[in-house]
Amino acid sequence: DFDILTFDGFLTLWAKDRPDGPALSQDDRAFTYAGLEEHTAKIASMLMAMGLKKGDRIAWIGKNSDLYFSLFYGAARVGIVMVPIGWRLAPAEWAYIAKDTGARVLFAGQGFDAGVQALAKDVPGVEHVIAEDDARRMIDATPRAAFEPAGADDAALQLYTSGTTGNPKGAVLSNRNLFALRKHSADSEHAYTKWEDDEVVLIAMPCAHIGGTGLGIMALASGLPGLVQAEFSPDAVFDAIEKGGATRLFIVPAALQMMVNHPRCRSVDYSRLKYILYGAAPIPLELLRQSMDVFNAQFIQVYGMTETTGTICMLPPEDHDPNGNKRMRSAGKPLPGVDLRIVDGAGNDMPVGAVGEVWTRSSNNMIGYWNLPDATKGTVADGGWIKTGDAGYLDEDGYLYIHDRVKDMIITGGENVYPAEVESAIYGHPDVLEVAVIGVPDAKWGEAVKAVCVPKPGTQIDVESVMNWARERIAGFKVPRSVDVIEALPRNASGKILRKDLRAPYWAGYDRQVN
Ligand code: ATP
Ligand code: MG
Repeated sequence: DFDILTFDGFLTLWAKDRPDGPALSQDDRAFTYAGLEEHTAKIASMLMAMGLKKGDRIAWIGKNSDLYFSLFYGAARVGIVMVPIGWRLAPAEWAYIAKDTGARVLFAGQGFDAGVQALAKDVPGVEHVIAEDDARRMIDATPRAAFEPAGADDAALQLYTSGTTGNPKGAVLSNRNLFALRKHSADSEHAYTKWEDDEVVLIAMPCAHIGGTGLGIMALASGLPGLVQAEFSPDAVFDAIEKGGATRLFIVPAALQMMVNHPRCRSVDYSRLKYILYGAAPIPLELLRQSMDVFNAQFIQVYGMTETTGTICMLPPEDHDPNGNKRMRSAGKPLPGVDLRIVDGAGNDMPVGAVGEVWTRSSNNMIGYWNLPDATKGTVADGGWIKTGDAGYLDEDGYLYIHDRVKDMIITGGENVYPAEVESAIYGHPDVLEVAVIGVPDAKWGEAVKAVCVPKPGTQIDVESVMNWARERIAGFKVPRSVDVIEALPRNASGKILRKDLRAPYWAGYDRQVN
């Protein structure tokens, strides 16, 4: 079944193979695979009856819902493209994406009906706004019709990048792209990449991010149950582990941090939990150590981007040795089928150990950005290599180390400093809850390293002590020259630190363009 590369193919396969096997569930709603096949066939029929055809876009604005996943799978069966729009974005950002994508139908998740109705007035081309409950009724009332299934290279999902470095861009992903991770995982000789038959997959990250939607795709491709959570909260995840039987989950570092700081974290029964996948942003080493100490699970780091349909590299559990294993800082090795290069500014390959831009090529590379031919050309180099915009290096064993975004690198007195390393060093300071490191203008050094810290509740941050803490852990030129204290770090909907927003006030009036 590893040659199956379409939603239609997988839904048909599992409906035959495990008809009564649990598929999607949320709260008290649950679909078996036979039920999901029937439900998604009705959805495909309903969309066609509404006059939609292959290549048309539909959008979802709402929290995670089993309905979102059914709509996505059903639409993809016939080549209608789902565009999940992050509910945490501002309405102006919803409008930007809805317009950019040209959605003909907007589905509004529970509680978003009024907001989406209002939005539709500003978005030409929207023919219907359908609220969650109405959609469920409409699907039930639709008879199943015959349809022509989409092929492996037809687009299925248009996912906007997180907008960490600029405007979000719509990455168009094909059926083949979306199921490549399953194929790459199956081709690996390592057991940790296998999705075992007794697993229950917890979808707790937002569906507008590849980390949320991608997990739903892996559950479907593997014929496994996917438990959908409306939104992340530590309590909901603890409940899903204890009572829902979740064996595998994906989580971003910011959410992991909320979990290890939660009073329940040490009293939860983790006996069913097998794997915690984490990634999407650099993780401070100390947070990883704490998490490994708290959760009784195997840890897997994943590295990838929207443009690569998520995971291209994994750091396996056996490389998670808290006792000083240097691999704890690695984002892992490329999966089988994924090529990596480390490239300098002129496009030449760099030697082992040297830092450059990470380029990647595999069958999970996107088709391209929607409506942005120049941006696509800027990101996809000749030969189909995606330029990730991340700075990193490969070691002699082929492990990838991600330093940071190329754009976030600080050049101070001729030395390159990567914020993530400095942040990781400061993170363990007893009074620091969160920290972000940026470069600020400096007459002597060109740029100087600055740390912006959020104190733990009820504590005050002593600037000298933060600098001393860093000095004991990293080279002198990386130690922050100044420390500012603020109440909260600017983050986007994926929980990523918006360094460009932090940098902006310091660079106001300077020539250097703030990325
Ligand atoms: P935009 O492209 O709009 O600026 P974004 O790059 O944050 O936003 P995503 O596609 O969600 O949007 O994120 C991909 C990026 O996340 C990668 O390029 C990388 O910088 C970061 N990332 C992903 N996984 C890891 C990891 N394991 N370690 C460090 N960084 C990671
Ligand atoms: Mg990006």
